[in-house]
Amino acid sequence: MRAAALGFALLLAACSSEAQEQVAIEPVPTPQVKPEAVETSSAHAEPLHDAKSATLNSKVAPEKMDGSKPLTCVGEAVQGGLLLCRTYGSTYVTLGNTKAQSDGNGKIILGFDRDAPATMTAKVVDPGGHSYSQAFNVKSRNWDISRIDGLPKNQVSEYTPEELKRIRAATARKKVGFASRVDTVRLTEAGFASPVAEYTKTTNFGAQRILNGIKKRPHYGVDMAAPAGTPITAPAGGVVSLADDDMYFEGSLIMIDHGQGLISYYLHMQDVLVEDGQIVETGDLIGTVGSKGRSTGPHLCWRLKWRGQNLDPELLTKWVDK
Ligand SMILES: [Zn+2]
Repeated sequence: MRAAALGFALLLAACSSEAQEQVAIEPVPTPQVKPEAVETSSAHAEPLHDAKSATLNSKVAPEKMDGSKPLTCVGEAVQGGLLLCRTYGSTYVTLGNTKAQSDGNGKIILGFDRDAPATMTAKVVDPGGHSYSQAFNVKSRNWDISRIDGLPKNQVSEYTPEELKRIRAATARKKVGFASRVDTVRLTEAGFASPVAEYTKTTNFGAQRILNGIKKRPHYGVDMAAPAGTPITAPAGGVVSLADDDMYFEGSLIMIDHGQGLISYYLHMQDVLVEDGQIVETGDLIGTVGSKGRSTGPHLCWRLKWRGQNLDPELLTKWVDK
């Protein structure tokens, strides 16, 4: 009885993983599906073993850094993870195909996509034109599998021209929000505070959805179920790059740029309590939990991107330097 109730709660708090980033429409799990077909055992993120030993010493001037390593970082090189590094000021770092520039304090963020390869090399070019490289072994993770079978084939929705117009307009607004690149890194060695104080996690970051045997886009968020109206607070300082309560799929959507395009975002809220361009600090109220858009129950779908790479926001809540 209890298990059945829990399964139902999990279903209620699920949101469509596929709908957020593009117009491509995927089938949505429906409540008729057996609960056990939806949720699987959780692959909890590993703790950040190295975070403490690698804590940045902010008193170390960049020019006094260990010359053999151009980047000194906290965090962990793991799929979906990120490093907050110190390097020389105004230095370009290219990781994979992604290029970023350190801020005036020599701080730079480097993210590892959910599907990052086992080894990645950062190419560092300082303002004097000297180049260095630093390799990272990227720890791989196992992802939850959400297998749902027996969905009717016609569950791919069809949209009216008016709906398509709304979807395209929302997609364009998201693009602008994700393009934000606040110069100064506002993320600190404290990582993220949880945006919701009390919640039940219903889906892990990275869960692989398999619908009728076909692999779909992974779930790029952490689903946190909580009663409608529960406060949502900023997990770290940043600048709001999008605050919109009329999104077709997300219902409502807030994006916060924590610096250099590290953007955390919040879906399905009941109330949006910030505005575009607003500066927020850790713990500031930004919205409340809701179930707007393509959602089947009150929850926060919390997501994180760095320059197009999909990251796991929950990993940052485990940084030790609180
Ligand atoms: Zn979600």
